[in-house]
Amino acid sequence: MLKFRPHHVMCTFAFQGYGYSQSFVENYQEIVSKLPECKIEVVKGLDQICSACPKIQHNRCVKQDTVLELDKKHMQILEIEIGQVLTWNEAVEKIRRKMSLSKFEYACQGCSCKPHGMCKNALLKLIEEKEVV
Ligand code: SF4
Ligand code: SF4
Repeated sequence: MLKFRPHHVMCTFAFQGYGYSQSFVENYQEIVSKLPECKIEVVKGLDQICSACPKIQHNRCVKQDTVLELDKKHMQILEIEIGQVLTWNEAVEKIRRKMSLSKFEYACQGCSCKPHGMCKNALLKLIEEKEVV
C-alpha cells in the first residue's frame, strides 16, 4: 500500500521526473513505478513522498501551513478523505471527473511548483482526452 497525503494524488498525476533533490526524485520515481500494482491510502501529514524531501525539518514540512491548505482543498475537490483506499486508476478517474482548470488554480494556489506550468499542462492533456472521448 502506498501512502499519499491528499494533495499528492494530484502531484503524482502531474509528476514528470522533477523535484526538490536527486534523492527526492528517485524516491518519487520508485513510488510511481509501483502505482500499477499497489493501492494508495490517503493519509494525514507526511507520507512516502515527503519521506525523501529536503523540506522536512523537525519531522514536519517547512511549508506546513501551505501544504495543509493544499491537502484540505484537494480533499474537498476530489472528494477524498483520510483513510480512504483507492487504486491509481480510481484516483485518476477522480481527477478526470472533478478537477477543472479553475479548480486547479484554486486547489494548487500557493504551491511553489505551480508557476512552472507542468501540472497545469498535465491536467489540460487529461481534459482534452475527456473531450475527445
Ligand atoms: S501545482 Fe503543486 S500542489 Fe498542484 S499538482 Fe503541481 S506540484 Fe502538486
Ligand atoms: S514540500 Fe512538504 S509536503 Fe511537499 S513533499 Fe516536501 S515535505 Fe512533503
